[in-house]
Amino acid sequence: MKKILIIHTGGTISMMEDKMTGAVSTTHKHPLTDMTPALSEIADIKEEFMFNLPSPHITPLHMLQLGRNIENRLSKEKFDGVVVTHGTDTLEETAYFLDLFLKTRKPVVVTGAMRSSNEIGSDGLYNLISSIRVANSEDAHNKGVLVVMNDEIHTARNVTKTSTSNVATFQSPQYGPVGIITKQAIFFHQKLLTQETYTVETLTKNVALIKAYAGMHESLIKAIHHTGIDGLVIEGLGQGNLPPNIVGSLEAMLADGIPIVLVSRCYQGVVQATYSYDGGGNKLKEAGIIFANGVTGPKARIKLMVALEHTDNPKELVPLFE
Ligand code: ASP
Repeated sequence: MKKILIIHTGGTISMMEDKMTGAVSTTHKHPLTDMTPALSEIADIKEEFMFNLPSPHITPLHMLQLGRNIENRLSKEKFDGVVVTHGTDTLEETAYFLDLFLKTRKPVVVTGAMRSSNEIGSDGLYNLISSIRVANSEDAHNKGVLVVMNDEIHTARNVTKTSTSNVATFQSPQYGPVGIITKQAIFFHQKLLTQETYTVETLTKNVALIKAYAGMHESLIKAIHHTGIDGLVIEGLGQGNLPPNIVGSLEAMLADGIPIVLVSRCYQGVVQATYSYDGGGNKLKEAGIIFANGVTGPKARIKLMVALEHTDNPKELVPLFE
């Protein structure tokens, strides 16, 4: 029987609904703990209650602690796989950080729930069981960090939360899930062509994320510049364009050695330097803005934080993103 470690970090999967008020909150004792005997039919399970945080309280420091803990326990205690339970709001950021951080080929699966443990149609226990089954599967090796929810397996790199409340919230726009889970089996039908990992000792760089919009004013960029940030990610328009009003203030940031990474606010497609009008992608690239392909704004921010621990030289940053 395989040895699987479950690390709980909090989120709705660890919460209960107050039947009088309908409010959902964390509980003293994890509500799924009593279910552990049922899980041991699938694998030899060990559980760790690392954090008990709603995921909006998760910081990059928690992500780094989690990554180190997984690395440590995988190497010292010879687990065959790991399942992390996490709030869904920032799940994709933690999963993506783990994907960039962990060098293991063993399955690491992140899961959560959209309905707390005592709500009708609660999906927590089901997602936990599905995740253990995936972590137990030989086919889940060497696939990077995976996110399992609602009978689907997604890569940490492509998955994003798409609905505020639907149990089918986790989707990989443009790419789809890499596998599905049925009552009898785990089926993978895709895998990533490339995987990248970085050595991360600290994760302290201050990287901001903003979204571009029609008629955007440079005052926002100037204000951010003066907060002393180490890097900026902008969710730009379409293929990677920005309102011309903000370009001058972005150039001032670049001149101060603050790297700027551009993704699109569209949830599908890639950014590219197509247009040469003022604020067009072509001009932005010429000015030194880095185009990041294949990741959302929050993930580009995590990646820039990781990359900045190694270099702030734009020439070295460009190939990490493009
Ligand atoms: N707000 C909750 C959290 O992220 C939502 C969830 O867990 O699904 O902790």
